Amino acid sequence: MSDCVFCRIASGEIPARVVARNDRALAFHDLNPQAPVHILVMPTTHIADANDVGRGGAELWPAILDLAVDVARTQGIADSGYRLVINSGSHGGQSVAHLHVHVLGGRRMAWPPG
Ligand code: AMP
Ligand code: ZN
Repeated sequence: MSDCVFCRIASGEIPARVVARNDRALAFHDLNPQAPVHILVMPTTHIADANDVGRGGAELWPAILDLAVDVARTQGIADSGYRLVINSGSHGGQSVAHLHVHVLGGRRMAWPPG
């Protein structure tokens, strides 16, 4: 999808600070970090949101979540703890319509989320 900013990152058309990848997913620094560590992990193919994963998700979810946990380890926050967030749809607060997991850490997170 040429009008999707995250697809353009996946294709290399828009630069991003990539930290890791696997065969299905790409991890890169969030442009506007909300914590000392704030990495986004997304599928490299266009999937709009959590609803859009569908039946193909049997392989896709582990590819995304494995990479998210790997990133937590390599960023040094695995032991102190971290938060994985998927905003999906309007009430979920999703602002970029390409599925992504936020990996947030390096500080204590508050609960409940806003
Ligand atoms: P969400 O609100 O869950 O859809 O999260 C979208 C995230 O994408 C926000 O945290 C933005 O800061 C981040 N973001 C938007 N554009 C870019 C970009 N070009 N590179 C890296 N992060 C981005
Ligand atoms: Zn996309």
